Amino acid sequence: MVKKSMNKKECIFCKIADREIFSRILFENESTLGFLDSSPLSNGHSIIIPKNHYSNLEDIPDKELTELYKIVKKLAVRIHQNLKIDGYNILQNNFTAAGQVIKHFHVHIIPRNYNDKIFRIEIPRSQASDNQLDDVFKILRS
Ligand SMILES: [Zn+2]
Repeated sequence: MVKKSMNKKECIFCKIADREIFSRILFENESTLGFLDSSPLSNGHSIIIPKNHYSNLEDIPDKELTELYKIVKKLAVRIHQNLKIDGYNILQNNFTAAGQVIKHFHVHIIPRNYNDKIFRIEIPRSQASDNQLDDVFKILRS
């Protein structure tokens, strides 16, 4: 069953799920599809989507998210072992500010090798004062 949405008609990932657009499908079950990214950052870069159209992490129901991440793990292991890569990034962008381009929830598996220079996420240290940390902590703690 496919959730109807205003965006669905124009959504490239819905078209892939509906086989209106060709993709190299690596895994499929009732709710989830995994396929090779056609513009890969590295060899074997893959995308996993729910077949239903959900815009982002906040829209996808927990049950479908849980099922989808099982497939992310399954494909990550397959990619890691079969391509003999050194590691991989699991990347999931939400909203334009975070780099989300296609507004259909999706997870990237990006194969990595030592010194591949594709990108490197550097975690900056010591950028926040204790007061800043206390302020945000007060806002976010439940
Ligand atoms: Zn879609």
